[in-house]
Formats: sequence, C-alpha cells, structure tokens
Amino acid sequence: MKEDIIFNLKEVHDRIEKACGISGRNVTDVQLLLATKTVPAERIQIAFEAEETLMGENKMQELRDKDSVLRNLNIERHFIGHLQTNKVKDVLKYVTCIQSLDRLSLAEELHKQLLKENRTLDVFIQVNTSFEESKFGLAPADVISFIREIKKYESLKIKGLMTIGLLDVEKEKMRPSLRLLREIRDEIYEAKIEGLTNLKLSMGMSQDLELAIAEGSNMVRVGTSIFGNRFLGKEIWNENIAE
Ligand SMILES: *Cc1c(COP(=O)(O)O)cnc(C)c1O
Repeated sequence: MKEDIIFNLKEVHDRIEKACGISGRNVTDVQLLLATKTVPAERIQIAFEAEETLMGENKMQELRDKDSVLRNLNIERHFIGHLQTNKVKDVLKYVTCIQSLDRLSLAEELHKQLLKENRTLDVFIQVNTSFEESKFGLAPADVISFIREIKKYESLKIKGLMTIGLLDVEKEKMRPSLRLLREIRDEIYEAKIEGLTNLKLSMGMSQDLELAIAEGSNMVRVGTSIFGNRFLGKEIWNENIAE
C-alpha cells in the first residue's frame, strides 16, 4: 500500500539520520539507494513520487520489464546484481552505474560496448569482504591490482567500492566485513593511484545500515525495510541463485 511505503521511507530516513548523528557524520554524506528487485514498477513509482532519486536492480529482465513506467521518472538507475558478460549491452540501455564490477572480463566487455556507444559509465568495484562463497566480488587482496588493470579502460569511471556485508543476528559479527571495505579504500588511497581520490563506499542494507554508516558507508541499499519481504523461506543472499 502507498501509505506503507511512505511510512517506511520515513523510518529508513530516520534510521539513517540517527546513525549519522551517533557517528558524527553529515546526513548528506549518505545516500539512500532503493533496492527494488521483485518490486513492481508501480510500487517503485510511489517512492519516487516521495522524492527518492536512486534505485538499483539486480536483473536485466526486471530493468526491461519496469522500464516503460520508470523511464519517465527522474530516477537514477544502478545495476547491483551479478552481471553476466552477455547481458552487458542490454543492461547498459537502462543504467548509469554498475556497482557489481567484479572481474576483468566484465570490465573489458563494458569498455568495448561503451566505446561503441561513445559514452562513459560510473562503476563500483564489488569486493567480497565477508569471504563467503555465496557472494560475488573480488578478494580484498586483489582490489588494488584490479584497479591498476582496469585503468586502461577509460570509459569506466571508478566511483567507489561495493560490498554485501555478512548478515548475522549478532551485530559484532557483521561489523568486520563492513570495516574491511573502508580499510581497502584507505589502502587504495595510500597506493596513490592517479585520479582516485573520492571513492564512495556502497554498503549497508535493511539489516545492517546503522553499522555500515558507523563504518563509513556513503550509500546504503535498502529493499526490505521499504517494500517489505520479498519472499519467504528462500535464501536471498546466495548471489549465485540471484541470476
Ligand atoms: C537486495 C539487495 C539489497 C537490499 O537488501 P535488503 O535486505 O532487502 O534491504 C542490497 N544490495 C544488494 C546487492 C541487493 O541485491
């Protein structure tokens, strides 16, 4: 229902504000991205009428299906799911940023297509900071060499790092995977790679957004707390079945 979404949005903004307050951060440093997988376009539209500006989808199919409604709204669409190389061309029709860049072959394919289209693309590098097999992302130790490699693909504008933290009922078990992303960013800064001075951290979801903000997140990606549960009983955080 419309009222639910509006109400939930306000709650999420309150949570973000409170978390920023606690860690002495400015609310304007933390963007809210709506994670809209499985959410029908009409429900997403309600959120954008409530002045949200940013959303992320996980599947090309959903981007395509919702496009007729969403293309007319003033929304920035990101891709946040695992991206198969053969879907690059289609996904690029709908998004201005890919947050799940996790391998060289994908960087190469993106660059090839972007050159053809004579455009650039914002990217976040996905890092597997929880070391779980169920998740995609570069191993933390490989991030710097990966960045050095993809610098040659000038169409890719590296905007930051993205992770899906370890989800657990215990807060302190979740924190290390979030903190690690910030530490990797610090290492990148120390490596003084040209042009990389303002990298954003995309981390924090319904369950861990407060912790993520405490650990330096610049973008929380929230689905469930806004749109409700997606489905019951299915393991969502196996990214391997998300495709
Ligand atoms: C679904 C999803 C989210 C949001 O998760 P919720 O727990 O529903 O808030 C964030 N990031 C990614 C990559 C997702 O796929």
